Amino acid sequence: MIVADRKPIQEILAMVKTDKKILILGCKGCVTVCNVGGLKESEILASTLKIARKQQGEEIDIDVRALERQCDNEYVAQINDIVNDYESVISLACGVGPQFLSEMYKDMTFYPGVNTTFFGGAVQHGIWEERCAGCGTCGIHNFGGLCPIARCAKSLLHGPCGGSSKGICEVNADTICVWDAIVTKKTQAGTIGDLMGVKGFKDWRTARDGGPRRSIREELVEGNI
Ligand code: SF4
Ligand code: SF4
Repeated sequence: MIVADRKPIQEILAMVKTDKKILILGCKGCVTVCNVGGLKESEILASTLKIARKQQGEEIDIDVRALERQCDNEYVAQINDIVNDYESVISLACGVGPQFLSEMYKDMTFYPGVNTTFFGGAVQHGIWEERCAGCGTCGIHNFGGLCPIARCAKSLLHGPCGGSSKGICEVNADTICVWDAIVTKKTQAGTIGDLMGVKGFKDWRTARDGGPRRSIREELVEGNI
């Protein structure tokens, strides 16, 4: 899933500036699962903003809604009747949400209320970790099912840098060296030989380096059925 962190309250306050009536729009997708942008978090943000404004000697009127998803125009259209009641909208979806909103409602201002960080999952309650960088050509089967692109600090594809100590990455003391984990796993499996020899280049054209990407399912495109 997409993991995000809520922006600091001071940053959100600076965004809405002097706006007196705003909507906080949550998303029931990934940001709900990582406890940052669902209905509950939207209501908490509304209360926090109201208290902060009161401390500044000013009032702010805030409504709260949460859409099923903000990355789907079918759901984004559900605020069509109310969006113009507000001076601005804070989206608590990942960075996709405020962009879909901005594209549909061109005269409205949408602020991102979260910082979108990575594709990952929960490794324990309250802790999420990155697992995938969306390179577009998955090859983790070559690395014991572990991704060196997303999980090695240097995204090394041809082996460890040599800087790890006791299985910990030299760049970040909180992180395992994924290459240590790959080598250990493949050694135990008796398949370490797969990593030997000269490998070809990875085709990065499917990654972000080639600009914004599209994914087309011909059978779902209207008119192709
Ligand atoms: S190889 Fe690419 S698609 Fe597969 S997990 Fe790593 S970054 Fe994600
Ligand atoms: S110590 Fe391991 S994970 Fe860290 S940069 Fe080097 S090879 Fe990558």
